[in-house]
Amino acid sequence: MFETVTLDIATADFPSETELATVQAPELARLIEGGVTSLAALLGKPSEKVRAQLGKAAGIKDFASADIEDLREAARTLRVRLNAPSVRTAPKPPRMQRPTGMGQLPVPRTVKQAAIAMSCGLCADPIKAGEIIGRTRDPKNSRLHKAMGWLCQHCLYERREKPRRRDVLLRMFHHLFANSAVDLNAHECAVLRTWLLEDPDIEKTPSWQGDPLTTTVVRLQTSQQEEKATTWIAVPTARTIIHVLHKCAAVPAPAEAELLTAIVQHLHEWDTNPQGIERRRHGSGPAFHAQVLQTTACPSVLSERGGPFDLHHAPPPVTEKETADADGA
Ligand SMILES: [Zn+2]
Repeated sequence: MFETVTLDIATADFPSETELATVQAPELARLIEGGVTSLAALLGKPSEKVRAQLGKAAGIKDFASADIEDLREAARTLRVRLNAPSVRTAPKPPRMQRPTGMGQLPVPRTVKQAAIAMSCGLCADPIKAGEIIGRTRDPKNSRLHKAMGWLCQHCLYERREKPRRRDVLLRMFHHLFANSAVDLNAHECAVLRTWLLEDPDIEKTPSWQGDPLTTTVVRLQTSQQEEKATTWIAVPTARTIIHVLHKCAAVPAPAEAELLTAIVQHLHEWDTNPQGIERRRHGSGPAFHAQVLQTTACPSVLSERGGPFDLHHAPPPVTEKETADADGA
């Protein structure tokens, strides 16, 4: 009898991963409440206890103020538990070592093991059930930046210490989205410089001819040699870099080529406004970019995730005086 109820809820009423992407927060909250009641009945435990356990497993302190990404993960966790009510929730994930210095990212708000397979909210890489996922703290400037969804382990801890080419591209995209110059640390500068110098004919691309990147390449090298925490690339130069990399013959992996194509497409849409977004209402900054992205005729991994995201600036190095002050305090 209980088995039938479980299967009905799990397969018929409870949203699949595809449906979860379209269900809005109020409906999701109702589904979760219904699921909690069903699971409590199956386990013979009070609903409050089951809800508290679910909150712990999904990294939610308060369901009333949880955002849609947290609710989605709670729904995923609930679906797994409804299918196997007797299975205990996953153990706490191991403490992760964060890089130090300019590659360091802030301590995540919450870290857990993925309830089911999903994809990263930043780089879109597939994540298997049981792998570490987490969410960053809310952005400092919430008027400008949007909160990111659940991130993979690499995006949570290592994307600035061991940047992949895609990490540098994503960083450039989200800065351009926010109408801001791009700041790169020495690791990111090194990755970008190597990439730019890979194709001997890169200087023949029309974008390079129109806006030579010679001094930029030298700045990237200096940053790398001096291990600078921050090197700023102006918006027009960042756009040239994207176009040059997109056109050059030595684009290696399909994932990078796909991401470059998506960035070029969205940059073009921001310039040409093909959906006729009202500029008077949204201006020409990040709010306008977000509207254009949302209404794109050709969705990409970038438009599906939105933004702009705050991908973190390296904090300035602590001076000897500050260290002394802190010790003395
Ligand atoms: Zn990722």
